[in-house]
Amino acid sequence: MQYERELRQSQAFLTEHDDFLVVAHVQPDGDAVSSTLAVGWLLSCLGKKYVMVNEGPIPKRMGYLWQADQIRDLSAEPLNRKFDNVICVDCADFKRVGMTKELFAEGAKLLNIDHHPTNDGYGTVNLIVPYAAATAEILFDLIQFMGLELNEAIATALYTGLLTDTGGFRYSNTSPKVMATASKLLEYGVEGPGLSELLLEQMTLPQLRLLTRALNGLQLTEDGKISWVVVTDEDLKFAGAVHEDMEGIVNYPRNIQGVEVGLLFKVIDEQAVKVSMRSAGKVDVAKVAQSFGGGGHVRAAGARVEGTLEAIVPRVVEQVRLQL
Ligand code: 5GP
Ligand code: MN
Repeated sequence: MQYERELRQSQAFLTEHDDFLVVAHVQPDGDAVSSTLAVGWLLSCLGKKYVMVNEGPIPKRMGYLWQADQIRDLSAEPLNRKFDNVICVDCADFKRVGMTKELFAEGAKLLNIDHHPTNDGYGTVNLIVPYAAATAEILFDLIQFMGLELNEAIATALYTGLLTDTGGFRYSNTSPKVMATASKLLEYGVEGPGLSELLLEQMTLPQLRLLTRALNGLQLTEDGKISWVVVTDEDLKFAGAVHEDMEGIVNYPRNIQGVEVGLLFKVIDEQAVKVSMRSAGKVDVAKVAQSFGGGGHVRAAGARVEGTLEAIVPRVVEQVRLQL
């Protein structure tokens, strides 16, 4: 069994080394933050030294997570050292670690734990499970495999990863195993409904303002199959919103009846745009994202594309159209 072999190799990586750096992808989501913390917990169980770092701040909404305040924000505070042993979670490719790569020593050994089918296996050791709904699901398996006993705090983190990456146990990645895992986590006292309320239902006022403004500019192709919205820096300023407030906007164009692909274009600066892609099922958006240097899953993918908004929007829409 490949999975068992990869679990064994990952266990060896964790037990045989010490002094780890734990990183996740830039602009971390629920799964990235939770997986970072779960790895931190695992290392603390083994009595290992570790530092958790992200390129930027973690979403405020996730402040309830155990040791969330221990994830260092590299954009706010430099870390003047390098690490020989690195664990990357939820990063589909090496670029996704962002600026934290500055902390990797030359020739650093890398453990790559991820669930993206587009992951290219950039690790020294790879634990890649493309059918897992979330990286948190893989970490649950690794923790079980290593014979460690979960507690409520870490069960809450793992549940958070599952909840957010399955859109509240609704997306097609919600397998029987996901539900069985969630069920086990609830046994540890995880407050499922409370987390759904906090992470999936509640909106801040700036978030709602941003959504309203973005939807005002919603576009649809003539055949009604591709729809998109754009968010610029001015939109964020107008709404008093921050980056994490863009989460979920891409679902609105996707949710229109008849739409096959919903897109969100977030202007990063004059030179780059972040594209989020969501598919109703017919189009493999991971493939589209890959053609722009990104990646992801069949139904949810993304890419950072160099160029202006005016140039990128028609290019991406055309690429999606070719897949229809
Ligand atoms: P989102 O649109 O929510 O940022 O991301 C959707 C999915 O695509 C997530 O699984 C995310 O990890 C992946 N993804 C988003 N942006 C990128 C990117 O620039 N490169 C790669 N490889 N994957 C991405
Ligand atoms: Mn994930």
